[in-house]
Amino acid sequence: MTLTFSVADTTIHRIVEQETTFLPAREMFPELTPEMLASQRSALQAAHALDAQDTLILCFQSYVVKTPHHTILIDSCIGNDKPRARPVWNLKTDATYMRALAAAGVSVDDIDVVMCTHLHTDHVGWNTRLDNGRWVPTFPNARYVFAQREYDYWVAQNAKAEVPAFADSVLPVVEAQRADIVSDEFSIGDHVRLLPTPGHTPGHVAMAVGKGRDDAVFSGDLMHSPLQLSFPELSPKFDVDPVQAAVTRRAFLERYCDTATLCCTAHFPSPSVGRIRRNGDGFACEAV
Ligand SMILES: [Zn+2]
Repeated sequence: MTLTFSVADTTIHRIVEQETTFLPAREMFPELTPEMLASQRSALQAAHALDAQDTLILCFQSYVVKTPHHTILIDSCIGNDKPRARPVWNLKTDATYMRALAAAGVSVDDIDVVMCTHLHTDHVGWNTRLDNGRWVPTFPNARYVFAQREYDYWVAQNAKAEVPAFADSVLPVVEAQRADIVSDEFSIGDHVRLLPTPGHTPGHVAMAVGKGRDDAVFSGDLMHSPLQLSFPELSPKFDVDPVQAAVTRRAFLERYCDTATLCCTAHFPSPSVGRIRRNGDGFACEAV
């Protein structure tokens, strides 16, 4: 399994926490017809993106990005000790994530910036860890970057009914004064930029890395499965605005299609990373 990629002056490490079956494809994508699925079944199975029961296989991971000046964690995955609806996430205590971080040669002290593409459970989990019954920032030297529009949306949702991931993995970071709530124009030097990509959530941002050009892009949850490369209009049932998400997805794929930009997905099965190429009316992700 390829875990490390280099582009220009930047090194990218995948930090994999889980790679496993998720939801039946036709449950996750309500507009996926049996005929559409049949046309892709063998290719998806060959790519380990679909099992024999038509259940999608997803990877859950973070990326560590080392630029000449910063060590950045993009998304913080699932986390430990957290009450969650999904059984394989609920109150788990395994050492997989911390072992993967160590294998990449990174300690929690080394992370300068944690950046979340959006504030769903599987992108904020390791923002905090349990310490004597309290949630404290996992990365003691890091600033945590949240997009303003995304943060505001979850403040409003959490006011209606508590959102566990927001309450235990975002608010404690804000209370510890480690958070930077930023506009879409935020950048880190000339190496890291936000790309507003709304739809999955209202303030979702992808992230582009590279000096003066996009050497790599981190797509977050603007897509979840290679199935959406064949059918970019397919939005999963948990996109907040599925129509906007479909527009965003196709625009993103068009923007990076047939370029040298390395596309680092949050959830595609391993290797999860590749270059976007045109394939008929849709796209493909070419492994590197
Ligand atoms: Zn996700």
